Amino acid sequence: MSDCIFCKFAKGTDNIPIHKVYETDKTLAFLDISPLAEGHVLVIPKEHYQFFHEVDDASLADLLPVAKKVALAVGAENYNLLQNNGTLAHQVVPHVHFHIIPKPDEKRGLGIGWPAK
Ligand code: 5GP
Repeated sequence: MSDCIFCKFAKGTDNIPIHKVYETDKTLAFLDISPLAEGHVLVIPKEHYQFFHEVDDASLADLLPVAKKVALAVGAENYNLLQNNGTLAHQVVPHVHFHIIPKPDEKRGLGIGWPAK
């Protein structure tokens, strides 16, 4: 979708700066611009879908292992995995995305796998 900001991130158009965390052919993970915690990452399919239930199986099969890899890297055993669909459910950006929000250990900081490789 040409006016979708997350599509622009996925395609690398308009030179909008993002902090990429991990990328495959079908999936992009990047830091949230307004993090709820240090290391708050968004994971998106590069193809445009508004809702989770629309994502094709091949994109989902690629996206979930990336979400898992990022969660392992940032969250250790303490993180929230969130995904909002529709305005009533607080979806603001209409391009499907998973939030991974670490709850860092106060002493150890983020998980030892951070950043994701
Ligand atoms: P939603 O409420 O749709 O589930 O969450 C959208 C998320 O996208 C928010 O956490 C917001 O901070 C993030 N976001 C919105 N615009 C941008 C942007 O331009 N860059 C980045 N990195 N994150 C964004």
